[in-house]
This record gives sequence, C-alpha cells and structure tokens, in this order.
Amino acid sequence: MKCPICSKGTMEKRKDVMEQDGIEFEAFQCNECGEEIVTMNQLKVLAGKYRKLRKAKEVVFAKWGNSLAVRIPSEIAEAYHISEGKHGILTKEKEGIRIIPS
Ligand SMILES: [Zn+2]
Repeated sequence: MKCPICSKGTMEKRKDVMEQDGIEFEAFQCNECGEEIVTMNQLKVLAGKYRKLRKAKEVVFAKWGNSLAVRIPSEIAEAYHISEGKHGILTKEKEGIRIIPS
C-alpha cells in the first residue's frame, strides 16, 4: 500500500501502544513521512479492546488461611448463578486465571 499523503513511501504494518492505558493496537505507518493510518478493521479491534476494558472490574486478593481469596462482585455472581457452597473449576491460562462455575 502506497502512502496517500506523500505518495512516495510505503505503508508498513506496525504495533503501537496507547500511552494513557497501555492498550496495544495495530496501525499502518509510512516509511517516508511517518503518517499513521488505522484501517476500519484495526479500529474495530481497538474499540473491542476498550469495550472489554470498560467492563473489567478490579479485584483485590485477600488472605484465606494459606490461600488467597478473590471477592466476586454481586452482579457477576448473579449473572453466573454463583452462590456460597457452589462449585466451579479454576484453570491457569496464559494471561490469568479463569473460573468456570459448574
Ligand atoms: Zn508518506
């Protein structure tokens, strides 16, 4: 893809990070003038990451004997029909811990 601004350079795919929240995104940058362009598709991916971040909740780990406990917010507990005494499965994932109520 040729640069639409200077028409001399070539647009190269590169990864960048939003400074304010550390979200990684993909864009095209001209190797001549440095102009940066984000395609509709790249924008959709970025918007999706922001939606996910807005829905995310911060949790605090508490000590429970030799283990740690995580408080699950009530709206999440209700949405997944989790209540005291119910069982679930905890799995180790690349980016974190996943809890699947059974
Ligand atoms: Zn250019």
